[in-house]
Amino acid sequence: YQQIELPKKSKDELYQMGETFNEMMDLLGKNFEKQEQFVSNASHELKTPLTVIESYANLLKRRGLDNPELFHESVEAIHSEAIRMSELTQQLLLLAKHDERWKIEKKQINLTKLIEEAVRSFKEAYKREIEIKGDQNIIVKADPQKVKQLFYILMQNAHKYSEDPITVRIRSQQRTAFIEVIDKGIGIPKDDLAKVFDRFYRVDVARTRKTGGFGLGLSLAKEIADAMGAGLKLESTEGQGTTAQITLDVVSFSVNSHNRLV
Ligand code: ADP
Repeated sequence: YQQIELPKKSKDELYQMGETFNEMMDLLGKNFEKQEQFVSNASHELKTPLTVIESYANLLKRRGLDNPELFHESVEAIHSEAIRMSELTQQLLLLAKHDERWKIEKKQINLTKLIEEAVRSFKEAYKREIEIKGDQNIIVKADPQKVKQLFYILMQNAHKYSEDPITVRIRSQQRTAFIEVIDKGIGIPKDDLAKVFDRFYRVDVARTRKTGGFGLGLSLAKEIADAMGAGLKLESTEGQGTTAQITLDVVSFSVNSHNRLV
């Protein structure tokens, strides 16, 4: 993306046009680099499990039939790598769909009920202890599917990076609804906090190799939030835990005097 050489002295209209052109080229170049980086990261992430699958399949072909132990080990490894690949493709597809501009279908929903339901199904699926507290019947105008998706990403992170019970807090204050997912897990170092929303960014790949994903969850979450006009932020202290917060505009609400939902 070549730049035009601009004359040093004159600052006429032609000069300004040239300057705008250079800025545009700069932006195009940066976008192109970002796209290239994304494709290269995605290919790399897909290549790793593929290499493992390939080498185990080779082992199976050569020595699998007369070695039951090797047979089981290989099948296990192939299975878990295939699951990882399928998770990654799913996330990549979501990102690709998002790039085509998803349709956001806003309607009036009871946010408290939606979150309660999501927590129930999360508890069931992941067998985690989750405490939910806050206000009842908070009504917002939002896309229920997207809110669920966003909430699930934050819940999955709390689940992956902590062991103690997770707290979900839902409250409204001055026409803003706050959904908070609070964990007491490993936390995020200060310097990494701004970067965790970047695609493929992981804080410590070695530390989270077993539990961690591909570093796509939060970038997807940010895109969903931006598309919905919702707020999304993280507060974290390394070694102590993380609070992820979604904010939405409130239509109406009623406060529960017990301040506890489930
Ligand atoms: P991943 O799928 O790897 O979890 P994300 O984009 O969701 O990717 O998160 C990016 C990185 O931020 C993670 O790899 C992890 O290091 C860090 N992170 C996200 N949420 C939490 C959390 N609740 N506690 C500690 N670290 C977190």
